[in-house]
Amino acid sequence: MLKIKNYINGQLVKPASDDYLDNYNPATGEVYSLIPDSNEQDVQNAVEAAKSAFPVWSKMNAEQRHDILMRVSALIERDLDLLAEAESIDNGKSKSLAKQVDIPRAVSNFKFYATAAMHTATKAHETVGEAINYTLRQPLGVVGCISPWNLPLYLFTWKIAPALAAGCSVVAKPSEITPTTAYLLSKLCIEADLPAGVLNIVHGLGAKAGSAIVAHKDVKAISFTGGTKTGADIARQAAPMFKKLSLELGGKNPNLIFADCNYEEMLKTTVLSSFSNQGQICLCGSRIFVERPLYERFKTDFVERVSALKIGDPLASETNVGAVVSKPHLEKILSYIDLAGKEGGKILCGGKQAKVSGRCENGWFVEPTVIEGLCFDCRTNQEEIFGPVVTITPFDTEEEVLKYANSVEYGLSATIWTENLSRAHRIAEKIESGIVWVNCWLLRDLRTPFGGVKNSGIGREGGFEALRFFTEEKNVCIKINY
Ligand code: NDP
Repeated sequence: MLKIKNYINGQLVKPASDDYLDNYNPATGEVYSLIPDSNEQDVQNAVEAAKSAFPVWSKMNAEQRHDILMRVSALIERDLDLLAEAESIDNGKSKSLAKQVDIPRAVSNFKFYATAAMHTATKAHETVGEAINYTLRQPLGVVGCISPWNLPLYLFTWKIAPALAAGCSVVAKPSEITPTTAYLLSKLCIEADLPAGVLNIVHGLGAKAGSAIVAHKDVKAISFTGGTKTGADIARQAAPMFKKLSLELGGKNPNLIFADCNYEEMLKTTVLSSFSNQGQICLCGSRIFVERPLYERFKTDFVERVSALKIGDPLASETNVGAVVSKPHLEKILSYIDLAGKEGGKILCGGKQAKVSGRCENGWFVEPTVIEGLCFDCRTNQEEIFGPVVTITPFDTEEEVLKYANSVEYGLSATIWTENLSRAHRIAEKIESGIVWVNCWLLRDLRTPFGGVKNSGIGREGGFEALRFFTEEKNVCIKINY
């Protein structure tokens, strides 16, 4: 059975304890590889390696770093099919989604930040007659990057690439549930001649390996994507050490659908924004609010399209809905469907664990589920489920739908469907979220700021924001003598 290794100081190494954790294939429910159960010693080794690498890496000019990071990008692209298959087996997502979205995005993340670092500029301020100030922007040193299981390589590289491009050295931990593509990335980094110690990947449990990265005094910043509760734990641990923090956390995103929208485009996109990756994208819209004149038509057509989605083997090309990531997650999703029933919700389609015959008969699949009849402030409509479950609710006025949309503790993204431009502007301005899509969903430009408000996190990723996060400004004031 494959034994995944840590990547420390340019080498693939066993964990210090030689202890391993089981890694499951969610589509079959079977253990298919083992991952290092890393501890403080592994993190210590990784931080030491990163500290030694930092002076050389940070002193390279942006073009030299660019060339190395572009080599990593090219190797990911070369192995696109292999990486997509690995992601599908590890996570349960359909291979076609991994091939179209996850892996190409990992290629772009490296490309984008390799080139962005060559276009940064620093500031200068003249205090007329007295002084000139110039501002240096220096890499922080060793930084920690911790990522979740839903878009494994996509989100892992979304953090690592800007950190490396900014001149930091990195200790990173992928989710223990989906470690494989991070392991394959470490092999590609060796092939790309990334200098030893610049990137170190420590596998293992959040509470052990992840927490050791956050607690380490020489790790200057933590870039974290994951659940809100974990984010709060990390913030508590990091705050007394005054570490810089970027926290991308949970969501409970609203879709606001007005009767004047482009109906076909809205319907097609709403199926995707609800059930892509089994609803396990932090940007999926899980609360769908529909203006009353359109409600019955939408309900009928939406349920028909959702019921036609093909649940099946993630490796089969015709599959739309793969497995959810783990057995505990399956149970969590089913418990929320149960709760929705108790709260008075009516299940319009789905609602059960799905059975897939053949090699996936023991896999963890959930039927795409649509629920109506729930109050906007019930638990089903307030808490993050992070699975293929959406609620639909009618509304009559803009004020009412804004109240519903903004009623949750989260504020990551929102989608507005209307042909009325004034209304789109009005609502975009009033909605409490870091990202608003109008007449589209998941249309991403990597230059734009990405992040949430309220309990969806602090800080912004993307564009120059991420390069700023991994650097510190230092002002130098020079007195002018006349
Ligand atoms: P978790 O918060 O459980 O885990 C995220 C990562 O943090 C994992 O690598 C985990 O390790 C690690 N971790 C857990 N505890 C600690 C700790 N105490 N110290 C340091 N690291 C720790 O999230 P999930 O993996 O379950 O991901 C799903 C969540 O991520 C959802 O809430 C989703 O909304 C959110 N998310 C947010 C996004 C955004 O951009 N805002 C994007 C994607 C997802 P381990 O593997 O052991 O759990």
